[in-house]
Amino acid sequence: MFVLITLGVFLLMEGITWCTHKYVMHGFGWFLHEDHHEPGYPHVFEKNDAFFIVFAIPSMALFYFGTYTAHTYLFFIGLGILFYGIAYFLVHDVLIHQRFKWFKRTNNRYLKGLRKAHKIHHKNMGKEDSQCFGMLFVPFKYFKKPKA
Ligand SMILES: [Zn+2]
Ligand SMILES: [Zn+2]
Ligand SMILES: [Zn+2]
Repeated sequence: MFVLITLGVFLLMEGITWCTHKYVMHGFGWFLHEDHHEPGYPHVFEKNDAFFIVFAIPSMALFYFGTYTAHTYLFFIGLGILFYGIAYFLVHDVLIHQRFKWFKRTNNRYLKGLRKAHKIHHKNMGKEDSQCFGMLFVPFKYFKKPKA
């Protein structure tokens, strides 16, 4: 049962991330996200990293209340947020932007599709008119094999 909570929260987080990216990062939070849209990815740390802290705080609060109260399920909600954060970091920061050269370029069709979609997101340097705000779920067309 608790596994399902974690899984459900993980999936929900993609939706929350999509909305946050579209309406907060590309909205009133643009001043924090702006440096992530600079070409060439020149910084080791970005202001954009602040969003990891924004999501880490509720997750840690949920761990706390899930551990010290009878509402154990809260812990598993926090776990879903944490897992999503890790997945997001690995896919977005490591795999796509190569901030850390942990793995070589992959030939996995799903991961290549994610890269392609996120490149489209970064094509736009500005705040408006970006596309592909999702991270782990992107439109189907990006997974199709390119026509020869
Ligand atoms: Zn963006
Ligand atoms: Zn900058
Ligand atoms: Zn990016």
